[in-house]
Amino acid sequence: MIQQAEKVDFFQGMDEEQRSASRPPEADRYFSLIAERHQGRWRGEVNPVKTEVADPSTLTRMVRDMAQESGADLVGVAEVTQAFVYKGRHVAHKYAVSLGMEMDYARLATTPSPESLIEIARVYYELGESTIRLAEYIRSLGYDAHSHHPLGGGAVLLIPHAIAAGLGELGRISLVISREFGPRFRLGCVTTDIPLLLDKPVDLGAAEFCRKCQACLRACPAGAIPQDQRQVRGIEKYTIDGASCRLHCNQPNGCAICIKVCVFNELAHRGKWLKGGEAAL
Ligand code: SF4
Ligand code: SF4
Repeated sequence: MIQQAEKVDFFQGMDEEQRSASRPPEADRYFSLIAERHQGRWRGEVNPVKTEVADPSTLTRMVRDMAQESGADLVGVAEVTQAFVYKGRHVAHKYAVSLGMEMDYARLATTPSPESLIEIARVYYELGESTIRLAEYIRSLGYDAHSHHPLGGGAVLLIPHAIAAGLGELGRISLVISREFGPRFRLGCVTTDIPLLLDKPVDLGAAEFCRKCQACLRACPAGAIPQDQRQVRGIEKYTIDGASCRLHCNQPNGCAICIKVCVFNELAHRGKWLKGGEAAL
């Protein structure tokens, strides 16, 4: 079945100085809550009495309703793709339910700032809680389910599963760009065996628009955003320099400048999304 560490070091890769950097106390409070309340709740007992429903659309609706009730703004279902499972881990579940949660536009607009880092930490916590609650709910229906935390440590890659589930398209910033929020949201995931109806990838015109827009590339203080796409596991795509980005994000107020300046953040906020970003031209 699933192999995932019971205890996850969310700040893996940071040195002592970075770990003890003076982040805003409110942000640290959320990170502490994640460590205290979320660790070890990735999986649990499955109710031996299965809720049998002949039509998978009923179960899909129940799962979607629960995801939204627990705070998710975006929900989509795809099959688990083994190529997008972390090396050394194994996921036997068939389905991946991707959850997205919006980060507040006004707070993110101040980034880098204590206010924006607190908002980022809040969404990591709230969305982590949502993924855990959804997995618990599915297990209560008699089907195995496992939560994969938005802050990391899960067994599946969140972004390709979210794209397969129709939450949005991959942008130059290596994040999913959604119609509802642009890239201004975080992702979590629940893998499960409950029979669900699949969603499909969407064509919003965002990936195409990124070819001619370089707003994020120019704004990134770490020079982490690429000019050109490159082949990764046989797929041509934009891939940021993760090490440079992480190093910069580990500063006391974090980063997320690329999310703030993304054309689709603004368009989605103003409700002016047009396919291909025409409204921004
Ligand atoms: S989060 Fe900051 S450092 Fe990382 S890619 Fe975005 S702008 Fe660059
Ligand atoms: S700022 Fe422009 S290039 Fe960067 S992700 Fe957004 S739309 Fe794409």
